[in-house]
Amino acid sequence: MTSAPTIHIVWNDLPAGLSFPDGRVAVDTETNGLDVVHSKLLMCQVGDGQGNVWLVRFDGSDYSAPNLRALVADPTLMKIFHYARFDIAMLEGRLGVKMENFFCTKIASKLCRPKAAKHNLWTLVKDYCGIALDKGAQMSDWAAPDLSDVQIAYAASDVLYLHKIHDALDKELHDGGLTATMAGALAWLPHRVAMDMKGLLAEDDLFAHH
Ligand code: MN
Repeated sequence: MTSAPTIHIVWNDLPAGLSFPDGRVAVDTETNGLDVVHSKLLMCQVGDGQGNVWLVRFDGSDYSAPNLRALVADPTLMKIFHYARFDIAMLEGRLGVKMENFFCTKIASKLCRPKAAKHNLWTLVKDYCGIALDKGAQMSDWAAPDLSDVQIAYAASDVLYLHKIHDALDKELHDGGLTATMAGALAWLPHRVAMDMKGLLAEDDLFAHH
């Protein structure tokens, strides 16, 4: 991203007729908590990797969101997330849609850079895009009737850099012989999400020895 992004704020659904020519879309969610069963979905951010961002805000009256559902459910479109485990739970749980063809930059970072101190989005944006994001609005009130400029910039930044990070990590996975391992982790992820929705082993590794 070299020029300022174009940010579209919309309510309860994406506009119809959007296209994502390179077959990828960056997606993030904002909620009122980290409880995948009970937290409310308050926003879904969508980025096209060309500098366009849609902030789909939910006022709680209508989660039918046919255009957003179609995008999430489109198997030809790769959804790029950072920490897909949470976003998939929120999107599948609140919109009732099943998702395939997705990528998680946090999982890829853990596989490619196991010794890195952190795998958060801030670190990946810094390392792969050379940009230090402002984290100021991370825990802010996403249900506020009018979002502040800081909130809008923060929400947009969550989906502005994921295409570039995906490009870099995809190459690192390939170079490290980890492409199949990544594919397996992503294939496992919906089951991990299903366990989260049932409250099973939330903080545990199913494969741990203990
Ligand atoms: Mn976010």
